[in-house]
This record gives sequence, C-alpha cells and structure tokens, in this order.
Amino acid sequence: MDCLFCKIVNNEIPAEIIYEDDQVIAFNDINPQAPTHALIIPRKHIATLNDIADEDASLVGHMVQVAGKIAKQLGFDSTGYRTVFNCNEHGGQTVYHIHLHLLGGKPMGWPPYQETLKTPV
Ligand code: AMP
Ligand code: ZN
Repeated sequence: MDCLFCKIVNNEIPAEIIYEDDQVIAFNDINPQAPTHALIIPRKHIATLNDIADEDASLVGHMVQVAGKIAKQLGFDSTGYRTVFNCNEHGGQTVYHIHLHLLGGKPMGWPPYQETLKTPV
C-alpha cells in the first residue's frame, strides 16, 4: 500500500516524532499552521473517518487523549488549542490515513470556513 503516513509509521520516511506508543505516533506537520502543529496518527492504517470500525473506537479515543497529553506537555493545555479531523474532499483531507491535527500556541479564529462562504456557488 502506497501510504505516506504508513511509511512514517514504518520509518521509511523521516518525521519529527514528538510522541509514540504502541497504538499511535505524533509528529510535527511539515507545513505548520500554528506555533505547534502536530499530527497524531494510528499505527494501523485507516483511510478516513468513514472507515472507523467499532473495534477502532478506543484507538480513536486514545488519539484524542494523546492530543491532550501533548498539549499539557507543551504547556498550552490551559490557554487552549484546536484539534481537527479532516474527512474527504470537502473536509480538506489530502492524506488518506486518519490523523488528528493538534494546533496550539496562538489564538485561532472561528469559524474556520468563513472564506469558503464568501465564494459564490
Ligand atoms: P489533511 O489535509 O487534513 O489531510 O492533512 C495532511 C497534513 O499532512 C497537512 O497539514 C500536511 O502539511 C501534512 N503533511 C504532508 N506530508 C507530510 C510529511 N511528510 N510530514 C509531516 N506532515 C506532512
Ligand atoms: Zn496508511
């Protein structure tokens, strides 16, 4: 399978890994959108949020919990942070191995889709 994030899991391509355990790894995003922008991914290949099976529920819960642990470790758990799963084309997904974005270290705007709404349909 030709999956970029599986290659990172298998150490076939390098990444700045900031956390790892038996279920997930986390590494810095190559194109950061905040002072901290990490991606938390399962070691298991799951293509999109639509492909999460019942047996994966605790794994995905663990991904979210790890995001909180990293935020605490980096010292922005109290000031706050954002976590995002993008799904398929309209969600802006570009890598088809699920990943939880963790963005922190600056205040962020909401809603995130304002620019899109300005575009005539
Ligand atoms: P998404 O658009 O939600 O699928 O997010 C994919 C993310 O992966 C983007 O934020 C990219 O900047 C990031 N990315 C792509 N290739 C790499 C890589 N080799 N190492 C780290 N991050 C990457
Ligand atoms: Zn994969």
